[in-house]
Formats: sequence, C-alpha cells, structure tokens
Amino acid sequence: MFEGFIKFTQNLYKSTEFIPLHAPKFNGNEKKYLNKCIDSTFVSSVGEFVDKLEENIASYTGAKYAIATNNGTSALHIALLLANVSKGDEVITQPLTFVATCNSISYCNANPVFVDIDRDSMGMSPESLLNFLESSTSLINQQCINNSTGKVIRACVPMHTFGHPCRIDTIRDICNQYYICLIEDACESLGSVYKGKHTGTFGKMGVFSFNGNKIVTAGGGGCLITNDENLAKRAKHLTTTSKKSHKWEFVHDEVGYNYRMPNINAALIVAQLEQLEDFIKKKEVLSNKYLEFFKSKNIEFVSGLKESRPNFWLNTIIFKEEKYKDLFINESNSKGVMTRPVWMLMNKLSMFKNAQSADLRNAEWLEKRVVNIPSGVVQNK
Ligand SMILES: *Cc1c(COP(=O)(O)O)cnc(C)c1O
Repeated sequence: MFEGFIKFTQNLYKSTEFIPLHAPKFNGNEKKYLNKCIDSTFVSSVGEFVDKLEENIASYTGAKYAIATNNGTSALHIALLLANVSKGDEVITQPLTFVATCNSISYCNANPVFVDIDRDSMGMSPESLLNFLESSTSLINQQCINNSTGKVIRACVPMHTFGHPCRIDTIRDICNQYYICLIEDACESLGSVYKGKHTGTFGKMGVFSFNGNKIVTAGGGGCLITNDENLAKRAKHLTTTSKKSHKWEFVHDEVGYNYRMPNINAALIVAQLEQLEDFIKKKEVLSNKYLEFFKSKNIEFVSGLKESRPNFWLNTIIFKEEKYKDLFINESNSKGVMTRPVWMLMNKLSMFKNAQSADLRNAEWLEKRVVNIPSGVVQNK
C-alpha cells in the first residue's frame, strides 16, 4: 500500500538496504580532532576542546555563555536547579516531549503541569498556557500560585519538537507577566531560528543535546546557554562537582554534580559543529522533496511556522486517519525503511499520570497520527 513511499525513500538515499531514521555523518575534522585529543592525553573533563565547544556554541547561537555537560538531561536538571525549582514546586511543560524533560523536573522533587501544544508547531501552545494561568493561578508577592494545589509554579519548559520552533516569543512574554522562569528544551533544535533568533536564546536558559540521534552528535553530550553571567558561573560550578578553583587544593563548597563533558566528546562536537549549517542546507533539500511527494498523496507533511527556519532535524508526517498510521509504520519498517511513532504522551506515563493537565486535545490528536520518517543527511556518492 505504501510502496510508493518506500521506493521514493530508497531513491532519496540511493540505497535498497536498511535506511535508519537519522544516522550521524562524520565527514569533517572528527578524526583529526580526536587524534589531537588523544595525542594530548587530555581526553577527560578538562581540555581545549571543551573550552572551544563552549565558545563556538555561544557565538553560533548568539548566547553570551555556554556550559558543556555530559548530556542534555543533566543540562536540563541544572537549569531547573538554577531557576530555584525545589521540593514541592511545579513546572509547566508540554505532554508531547521526550521523557527527559519531565524526568529532570522530578530530579528536583518538583511536579510537572501539562498544557497543550499547537498543531502546526507541535510545541507548547501560548493560548493553552495563558488560559491555564488565567483560570487556575493567582499572583501573590510576585509568585505564581496554583489555586488547586497551593504550590508555586516556578518554571516553564517548552520544547521545540523535532527542530520546529514553537511560538517562543509569546510564551516568553506570558512567563514574564507571571514571574515564571522560562527554560527552553532546545535539545532537538540546535540551529533552528525563530523570528531571526536562535532557539534556546529566548528563555533565561536554553538546553541542547548532542546525543547520538541529534543533528550534531558526540555520542553523548549536552550544553546549557544563558546571557546571565551569574547563572553561567553557577552552572559551570555545579556541573563540575562544585570545586573551588585552586592550583592544588580540593575543596568543594556545596553538593555538586559530575556532569562534565569529556574533552574527547567535545572534540567530536567541535568538528560536527563546523558542518552544522551544511547539514541544515542538505536536510532542507530533503525536506522539500518529501513535501512535494506527500502533497500528491494527501498526507500532511509538517513544515512548521512561517516565521521560523527549522533545523529540519526529524521529518514528520500526519495521517488524517489514525488507522493508516500503524499500517504505514508496519509496512515501512518491515521493508527496511525506518519510521517511528511519536512518544507516548507524558501525562499517560505511570510516573506522571497524576500530574495536573489542561485540556490536551491537540497533543492527543497528534499522538495518534504523527510518524517520523528517515531524516539523516544524504551522503554524496
Ligand atoms: C534528546 C533530548 C533530551 C536530552 O537527551 P540526552 O540524551 O540526555 O542528551 C531532552 N529533551 C528532548 C526533547 C530530547 O529530544
């Protein structure tokens, strides 16, 4: 039934062998920098590539400061801690996301509150956010208090789904109005731009991931960005075991975390970052080919918001009729073309099923219909 798609994808990737969802590409200076790193013996958590990576991420995104971490989840955890999220607090987020967003809230002994997403961006809906805040919270002494639980809503974590920016400027304005700290889960959207500004730079803090499936990768890694010097210093301190800087003494002044990125991972990412804009260009070409293909098939291909330039990380289609989703996933995977459904909504997972939720109709609608299709950079042969 979906043979046309399978042939089309095999043609795009010039291959009749297994086509993965998103294979990394290491065609730049990766081996050169890795060798340099090994030759220097500085393979662990101090070294020139960690510094370089932090400088490069900051200058690429336009953020003042970047702090490298061992993965995106730990960067999210630190961002929430720096927003003073602590035991009993609440954090607003979206139900359609990778579990790390909600896990990091739990690491702070806080609870998520779910508001809906927009159908076009697949990210947090400013209307749903504002509606929840207006109807269910009170501002008391510049704190946003949840009327039904009496708890403080300390932070808000929208996510830029599959690299498509959400309406982050409006979300920022709402958060400011309610004294809520905005942290962007930009783990999937490194390189995505909304109204001329990089995702991750709208909030007080933004977080990226360099996991194996992301647009640039070191196998694992993460990064926190911010314009706030104090937060940047605190983030570096907390992620590096809270060791006081000294030539030889080992003094730690609070409970810190070993969330350091090894230099060897940083070497890989520095090389990958040099290719990021080229990856995005090639992925845009691929995306446009899919867009044309699905137009004639009466299947919606997600292009995101007009005012954005996505990084085209994961290509996404939406089946108007639910029943075709599973048929499509079954057939494509059995024929060697990898496709996958979206995550089960966070409010349905056992750990978060008691969390407070707004009306989540868009998230529920998308959950039943969204499929990701092969999106890796096509190799020139
Ligand atoms: C990848 C990802 C993360 C972080 O994942 P790590 O594997 O810890 O780097 C967080 N949130 C979202 C939405 C992600 O896709």
